[in-house]
Amino acid sequence: MNDPTPVRTYLGVPLYRPRVAFFEFSSCEGCQLQILNNEATLLDFLSLVEVVNFREAMKERSDDYEIALVEGSITRGDETGRLKKIREKAKVLVALGSCACFGGVNQLKNRFGLDWVKKEVYGDSPIETEYVRPLEDIVKVDLKIFGCPVKKEEVENIIINIAIGKAIVHPKYPICTECKANENICLFDLGEPCLGPITRGGCNSWCPNSRFGCWGCRGPAEDTNIEQMKKIMKEHGFSEDTILDRLECFGGFSSYAQELRKK
Ligand code: SF4
Ligand code: SF4
Ligand code: SF4
Repeated sequence: MNDPTPVRTYLGVPLYRPRVAFFEFSSCEGCQLQILNNEATLLDFLSLVEVVNFREAMKERSDDYEIALVEGSITRGDETGRLKKIREKAKVLVALGSCACFGGVNQLKNRFGLDWVKKEVYGDSPIETEYVRPLEDIVKVDLKIFGCPVKKEEVENIIINIAIGKAIVHPKYPICTECKANENICLFDLGEPCLGPITRGGCNSWCPNSRFGCWGCRGPAEDTNIEQMKKIMKEHGFSEDTILDRLECFGGFSSYAQELRKK
């Protein structure tokens, strides 16, 4: 691997442009698209990192990278070997988005028998598909960036922090904290369910800002209190199926949903 190129100094300390590579497994590739959509800051971001692999954006490819941003879940046998090779080459492997972190919407099929799923979706067409696994079931993941899709500003901030050696701390508070700061009317008061009280913040209450209830795509906040969430849902007239549908949607709350289903 070549030495990274110094790009600028900060407080007299030379900063280096880490080589960054994007990869995708089973996913919609919407998380990668989010990064490309960020025109306002894209050039600043690119001045701090050297992107060497990004199929959605460029034709050049390189296996010489330090940070691998990996999108998608693992659903086929061949994906396991490819992911392990990426892990061998990367100094830092980042799971990008809910699919990579928790299985994402893909993991909904894990609730059903695999043969039934194949028949329902693909009929008699031959298809290779397995139960969905998040990246950390196969390889060591150094860092997770949550969301479906990820928030582009958050991805840039995290990568820049890796580049300058700054600690990365995910919010521990729930979405409600951001929602209140944004002065939204609580959706429960408008007759909508919302997982904001138990979901990790960091998206700046993206959905409630547009009057959509949170579906928990970023997974649980610290000290998640499912019993309290159930109570809030019940007080507002929502059934346990409503909370289960949301808890199971992205995979971040799988263990909570399984516990609820056992009761
Ligand atoms: S996390 Fe969501 S947006 Fe990102 S790849 Fe998966 S399905 Fe697509
Ligand atoms: S709308 Fe959702 S996130 Fe906002 S305050 Fe109400 S429960 Fe919390
Ligand atoms: S509000 Fe909830 S569902 Fe919407 S982006 Fe944020 S964490 Fe995801």
